Amino acid sequence: MVGKIALYLVRKSICLLLITLLLADTVPAAKLSIVIDDVGYRLQQENLILRMPSAIALAILPNAPHARLMATKAHQQGREVLIHMPMAPLGKHPQERDTLQPAMTQSEIRRIIANAVDRVPYAVGMNNHTGSAMTANLAAMEKVMRVLADYQLYFLDSRTTVETKAVAAAVKQGVKVLERKVFLDDSANPDEIRFQFKRAINLARRHGAAIAIGHPRPATIAVLQQMLSKLPADIELVAPSSLLPPSPQQSDQTPKDHNRLLHSPAWWDSLKHYFSHSLIIQTLQRYWQQSEPTDKNR
Ligand SMILES: [Zn+2]
Repeated sequence: MVGKIALYLVRKSICLLLITLLLADTVPAAKLSIVIDDVGYRLQQENLILRMPSAIALAILPNAPHARLMATKAHQQGREVLIHMPMAPLGKHPQERDTLQPAMTQSEIRRIIANAVDRVPYAVGMNNHTGSAMTANLAAMEKVMRVLADYQLYFLDSRTTVETKAVAAAVKQGVKVLERKVFLDDSANPDEIRFQFKRAINLARRHGAAIAIGHPRPATIAVLQQMLSKLPADIELVAPSSLLPPSPQQSDQTPKDHNRLLHSPAWWDSLKHYFSHSLIIQTLQRYWQQSEPTDKNR
């Protein structure tokens, strides 16, 4: 009798587990990617970023004093590293050393990018630091993309200007490209940063994915710590490269396989992923969140 009851309970548990796994795939997750720019100058604040989820990517200024250290630390955590390449701004902003200029020759641009690749090890992509003048110049951006194609780096257009030609140049040169949707911290006001964070979440839900860029500043770090601790269950934090379209040789794979290739999660990660997205778990999490004082972190 006891044996039969035990068997019944085991069978019931297996059924429940299977149902949960089946339901898991019916909930679409919106993907949110966060990139922290200007890394390499402020170790104290940047170390706080390193304590955040490893899906948050670092964009490192190649000539910053701690560029190599931060790239190495990030890589050791499995965190994505980008080169934060200084590009010519509009107007008379102070410029970093080796800022890419529209008038530069192909070989000058190649030398500067080669130097950046050396100073920021493990980088898999590049985004622009400033660059409203440089990115608006198609011919100049094509020179950049030719070099990125050789290094097999993707480009994330920070979109510092609506005139940007970065995507057009990347497509022309066969470089994979992404675009920033939200700047989290144009303002240092935590309320405004929170507002932008929520905007990024809404854009991710609407479009399936969104990329937000922030900086290692105290207010941004405080807001990120807050908001990431209560990230809605339908939002999946991902590294930016996981939002890239599959390359032609991978085109026969599903987007899921593509993600698996980039992140190579173990079976445990897959199981965690399934559970965190199951309807049952999400409903429980929502109930739990509602029962908390709602103004605690707002
Ligand atoms: Zn920057």
